[in-house]
Amino acid sequence: MIYFDNSSTTSVRPEVLHVYEQVLETVCGNPDSLHQAGRKARTLMEESRKNIARLLGVKPSEIIFTGCASESNTMAIIGYAMANINRGRHILVSNAEHPSVRHAAEALAELDFDVEFLPINDQGIVTPECVRQHMKTDTILVSCMHVNNEMGAINPIGEIADVVHTHPTCVFHADCVQSFSKIDVPFDRLDMATISAHKIHGLKGSGLLMKKQKLKMVPIIQGGQQENGLRGGTSNAPANIALAKTIRLALEEQKETYRKIEQINQYLRRELAKIPGAMINSPDDALPYILNIGFDQMTSEVLLNALDAKGICVSAKSTCSSHSANESEVLKAMGKSKKASTHMIRLSFGKDNTMDEAVQFIKTVKEILNAYGLSL
Ligand code: PLP
Repeated sequence: MIYFDNSSTTSVRPEVLHVYEQVLETVCGNPDSLHQAGRKARTLMEESRKNIARLLGVKPSEIIFTGCASESNTMAIIGYAMANINRGRHILVSNAEHPSVRHAAEALAELDFDVEFLPINDQGIVTPECVRQHMKTDTILVSCMHVNNEMGAINPIGEIADVVHTHPTCVFHADCVQSFSKIDVPFDRLDMATISAHKIHGLKGSGLLMKKQKLKMVPIIQGGQQENGLRGGTSNAPANIALAKTIRLALEEQKETYRKIEQINQYLRRELAKIPGAMINSPDDALPYILNIGFDQMTSEVLLNALDAKGICVSAKSTCSSHSANESEVLKAMGKSKKASTHMIRLSFGKDNTMDEAVQFIKTVKEILNAYGLSL
């Protein structure tokens, strides 16, 4: 099997699994219990929080462990807006966000917040100038993802943050799920940032929200003192402890993996350009980990199934939207043709992919096109 769907999820690293299993087996306590079993779990979990904070360049008190990035995003949007309603009601969110951001913003609109969606340009990004033009005196929150999960387009989040901070009462959140440990994230310029473990060879059901200490937030999950009163529910200590290892290993390999993936991406772009009817939808300067392509002659679904039958896993749109209507909203928002947005597939690469797999992919695509009578 060739797995080109690493933006949906990744395989877990054996080293991470080892830590998780070891903690699960040997540390049974609840980190909030006062007895020795609880204290042991707490010590390890706080050690992990400290290590993560050091790797991100923030304070340990600014790391909130969550169950996934969708939860982190919901906290950042709804939790922050609800706690700061007295400062203003205007919220800006890019129109290419993951549903966990978009739907959270839509939920706020139902509660009489003034929510505006920022347009992306034909390169799939929100420009700092666009943010500047949309900001109002009562804007309290702007959210824009770092790397778009369908296209790989890289938003200039450091510069957007600078624009946002010209308004002293406004804060900036970035969903860094697809960028973290692939390119550098400017955590020092962000007020809130979201990360998911299972996108970087960690555990499913594990994520975090970085939130600068001074920001007020209401908990979305009520029920306890966990995570500084911001997330009720017994802490998943083994997963939170394993997250430090996940992050450390991902960051250690960032540069080397980037170089390898860049070569794979460049090869695929070169070969695809030679195939009649092939479309490359990702911008030229997109993150190389994500390559959005299509073929004039075949809809997304037909191509995805044909590749699947040949042992190649890709996705059509992002996985979270893969069961909804079959046109990509992101491609539509970029102004791409209806054909591009209904014929696209997303290839997304990870540390275990090889050039041989890329060669095999091109060979297989040609076979499929030939088998459908689309001679090359
Ligand atoms: N944000 C982005 C950009 C994503 O690509 C995804 C998952 O595809 C998420 C958030 C949600 O991640 P999780 O599965 O951890 O909730």
